[in-house]
Amino acid sequence: SWTNSRNAELKQRAAQVIPGGMYGHESTALLPADFPQFFRRAEGTRLWDADDNEYIDYMCAYGPNLLGYRQPEVDAAVRAQMQLGDTLTGPSEIMVTLAEDMVAMLSPADWAMFCKNGTDATSMATVIARAHTGKRKILVGKGVYHGAAPWCTPGPAGILSEDRGHIVYYRDQDPQSLAEAVAAHAGDIAAVFATPFRHETFRDQSEPDATFAREARRLCDAEGAVLVLDEVRAAFRLSRDGAWAALGVKPDLTSIGKVIGNGQPISALVGLEPLRKAASSVYVTGSFWFSAVPMAAAVATLKIIRESDYLERLQRTGRLLREGLAAQAAAHGFALRQTGPVQMPQILFEDDPEMRLGYFWAAAAVRRGVYLHPYHNMFINAALTETDVAQTLEATDAAFTALKAQDRAGLPLERPVVRDRLERAALLSA
Ligand code: PMP
Repeated sequence: SWTNSRNAELKQRAAQVIPGGMYGHESTALLPADFPQFFRRAEGTRLWDADDNEYIDYMCAYGPNLLGYRQPEVDAAVRAQMQLGDTLTGPSEIMVTLAEDMVAMLSPADWAMFCKNGTDATSMATVIARAHTGKRKILVGKGVYHGAAPWCTPGPAGILSEDRGHIVYYRDQDPQSLAEAVAAHAGDIAAVFATPFRHETFRDQSEPDATFAREARRLCDAEGAVLVLDEVRAAFRLSRDGAWAALGVKPDLTSIGKVIGNGQPISALVGLEPLRKAASSVYVTGSFWFSAVPMAAAVATLKIIRESDYLERLQRTGRLLREGLAAQAAAHGFALRQTGPVQMPQILFEDDPEMRLGYFWAAAAVRRGVYLHPYHNMFINAALTETDVAQTLEATDAAFTALKAQDRAGLPLERPVVRDRLERAALLSA
């Protein structure tokens, strides 16, 4: 049976020696109180917390787990490279192989650079775009997450208005709003940032939109601005190529993160030929950017992406989950808003302005061995089977039953701060 005493003890110890007890996107501060903060191990689609409770995991480390935790071929590549060396005085030859693989696989890649986190890649894109154009303004969708550097972090603490002095906001995925922002800053625009589809916290997701993608490309071409597609979250979950390749749109720069090493720390910025000179001119680096083990993991991951049916499996299990949940919710008298691509599920309750339903339901699922998220998009991994989805649906059915038995007015508002977040998200959608 489910207990969390070890987790509670670790949280108390952490509060003494780690600011806030935990920080960043994996902090459970805004999640229902029962969500475990600390984990012990993982395998395939499963995760065990510090109390050894087992979960079918729908967060996938917030993305990086694409093929299953400890995927055997990737693990073997990691172990083999560890025997040779990891962080050396220069890169291993595997860096060249990895760059060749990326260029061969991705239509918007004539070259590739590697770094550690998504923020490295998006920040590098701003520098390369400014070096290329000699211009200042960076256009980004309002409320869109591009990382935690001062130019893009959502948190205001410690950030100066000067840090964002040349960041201009347009309404995400809205061609009209982008056109207006471009017109307002014409002549001084270095880059337009976009994501393949809307995937922000607390909001419904969208699907990739050809009208927006083509208009972004057209506006950038007319203005001489660099189009940056931030695929840190979505790369290789929608397509084996870039996410906008199917729409016929090639971004100048594409930031890729999370999944490339199936959990090993590596991200990338790839780009088209005209950006190569600027990319060669900027000074960007890091002590661990050239480590060989994550690159070996990436070469193994990309091989599986090319040669297996992982993508079709993500689509199939993602669809099964979505259809199962929709039927279940209806049977229990609830309406869910399940949005975005099925392999990246976002599940919000209809008529749940303070998220009381979503919070209660997700917490009930967690206590039944299914790790769901009440307001962040989730991720399907290729180790998830139809049997796992069936087991998930048993837990969620019980969670719906528990929710229905609750007096709605008596449902706790788990975190008052969530209300602020929801109001901010509502303002962005208005
Ligand atoms: N861009 C997008 C679209 C992201 O989703 C993220 C991470 N969630 C980032 C950038 C930043 O990546 P990282 O956390 O690896 O720095």
